[in-house]
Amino acid sequence: MQSKENKLPAQRTVRIGEVIAERGQKTRGFLQVGETATGPIQVPLVLINGERDGPVLCLTAGVHATEYPSIDALMRLTRELTPETLCGTVIAVPVVNMHMFANRLGFVSPIDGLNLNKIAPGGRGGSISEILAEVLLDEVITQAEYHIDMHAGDLGEILYAFGGYPMTGHMGRDRRGEALARLFSPRLVALYREGSKLPAAAGSIVLEATRRGVVSILAESGGNGTLEEADVQVHLAGVRNIMRYLKMIDGSPEIRGQQLIATERYVTRAARAGLVRLKVSIGEEVQRGQEAAEICNVWGDTVERLTFARPGITGLIWSHKAVSTGDPIVRCWISEPAPHFAETDCFMRSK
Ligand SMILES: [Zn+2]
Repeated sequence: MQSKENKLPAQRTVRIGEVIAERGQKTRGFLQVGETATGPIQVPLVLINGERDGPVLCLTAGVHATEYPSIDALMRLTRELTPETLCGTVIAVPVVNMHMFANRLGFVSPIDGLNLNKIAPGGRGGSISEILAEVLLDEVITQAEYHIDMHAGDLGEILYAFGGYPMTGHMGRDRRGEALARLFSPRLVALYREGSKLPAAAGSIVLEATRRGVVSILAESGGNGTLEEADVQVHLAGVRNIMRYLKMIDGSPEIRGQQLIATERYVTRAARAGLVRLKVSIGEEVQRGQEAAEICNVWGDTVERLTFARPGITGLIWSHKAVSTGDPIVRCWISEPAPHFAETDCFMRSK
């Protein structure tokens, strides 16, 4: 595998399909990956090739195209960044999955019903989502040394912002991957490890990108089909912070206050069916035995009181208000104070 350890000596011409940016240029266009009966299936690309040397950073949003704060943040970043002030290159894909975007469809492609973040690395011999996964990895993301896959909770998912990185066992890359996740996250950092209680999601774009030698993180803020300015700002602040750390833009990175490292997560599910009355909010610290939700039947009788099995932080709340047996209600993170980490401790600021 080609080494990604060294900075490129100089920004050569960046080319992805027909989209080309010479040194000092910002360009945009589409990369075609297939077609439907009504027209091409295309991925929008913005290439910002800085005048000065630096790393290549790939930013993707809209792998899940109803996760709007991540999409909006990336659209804004591509407009704010200029070749004159950028060291290195940014390869940006504001909406990876345009057919999901157009159809306002969560989780899966309307063309083949597949979840792009569960089928990586995909393959050109497969259906359109599998082709898209391979093209995205091979032609876009692996042109970069660093990658941030920007997400939020999907439709029906209320989410507590976090940064995640799948540990690879490669020390140099893992150090930088953890640094990026810490620099993105307002508080909670998830370091996924195979064989641990917090494994990486199989088939995810980030996991496959790290397997190809790219330092690739998951950046999550917002959710439930909303577009709230505060959620967009988390994405903007996180990506700018990372770009400062990579010395791609001016300024010093900052980590505000004590962070938490997740060690595990667990889901509280309904056993009974009916209307859900939630008893907690997102990002809340909960105790073992604390009431999570009450479920009542159509007569209004309370048929179940769900309690948390362990202490944790509510990280994902499903917004559905009617449930059947087995439906998820709340997912909690189990975490501990982040240990010292030389790479980013120098950027810690007290609140
Ligand atoms: Zn997502």
